[in-house]
Amino acid sequence: MSLTVVGSVAFDALETPFGKRDKVLGGAATHFGLSASFFTEVNAVGVVGGDFSEAEWDVFRRHQINTGDIEVVNGGKTFFWSGRYDYDMNTANSLDTQLNVFANFDPKLSENSKSAEFLFLANIQPTLQKGVREQCPNAKFVAMDTMNFWISSAKDEVIDTIRTVDCIIINDAEARQLTDEPSIYKAARAIMDLGLKAVVIKRGEYGATLFTKDAYFVAPAYPLESVFDPTGAGDTFAGGFMGYLSAQNDLSDETLRRAMVYGSVMASFNVEKFGTDRVDALDHHEINARFKEFKQMTHFDDIPFERSAAA
Ligand code: AMP
Repeated sequence: MSLTVVGSVAFDALETPFGKRDKVLGGAATHFGLSASFFTEVNAVGVVGGDFSEAEWDVFRRHQINTGDIEVVNGGKTFFWSGRYDYDMNTANSLDTQLNVFANFDPKLSENSKSAEFLFLANIQPTLQKGVREQCPNAKFVAMDTMNFWISSAKDEVIDTIRTVDCIIINDAEARQLTDEPSIYKAARAIMDLGLKAVVIKRGEYGATLFTKDAYFVAPAYPLESVFDPTGAGDTFAGGFMGYLSAQNDLSDETLRRAMVYGSVMASFNVEKFGTDRVDALDHHEINARFKEFKQMTHFDDIPFERSAAA
């Protein structure tokens, strides 16, 4: 099966308590695509400027990501985002957002991208997301992300788009903001009622929670001592989750649960270095070893306890 992702391809400037980088490859479609490429064939749809160099294209090439639908606007500049994290690495402080060529992004999908069975609408303007969804009427499973900016400025459009997809992958604060529900369990159910098959709520260092009609599943985050740069962790999670589903071509609760763990595994690698550096250098052996560790971390025996009369 193949998987199409539509979203930002960017240069990021990042500052965390562990260091600073002035210009690294970033963007939601980049982080998602790299992560998903370990599982399935990926088509990336986006736009970059003439300043996007061979070094950046090489990252996509190394992972056999199809970049035919990343439009190049010669003379234009690539989307630029600058963010800072303090010791609470769950919260990014946006310092600067320069949309550049991304301001006029009008995603046009080739037949190859349109025919993918799995589709991920990364965080872009909700009406554009809906337009892409409509270009892929035969997609079997469509997931989307969004962000606080769109929920506060274009909530009706966000809800309209949610109604056209199968799954949403958002963070806890966004789920609360979208539904005005303080409980994330109630929030998830309210979002499900918009017609979704699955809702995934990301909770940063506390892991991620999956809701389906019949199931509730929690994947922890991997207990890393040093989180260098959380940028792209959410997209990397979504890439592992969607990539695994696409590879399995199955949407049973059991497969969705394993997809949640693969999402957590991939996100845990992403945060170990700045930008895309760690996932770019990853191999399958490391992914599978960490997947096994997740099993050990969350396994327990189902032995009921009864206090004996003598105790
Ligand atoms: P995440 O940390 O998973 O939320 O994603 C971070 C990535 O999203 C960064 O690499 C940024 O380049 C990109 N990004 C930041 N702001 C926006 C925005 N307004 N629209 C699209 N992408 C963005």
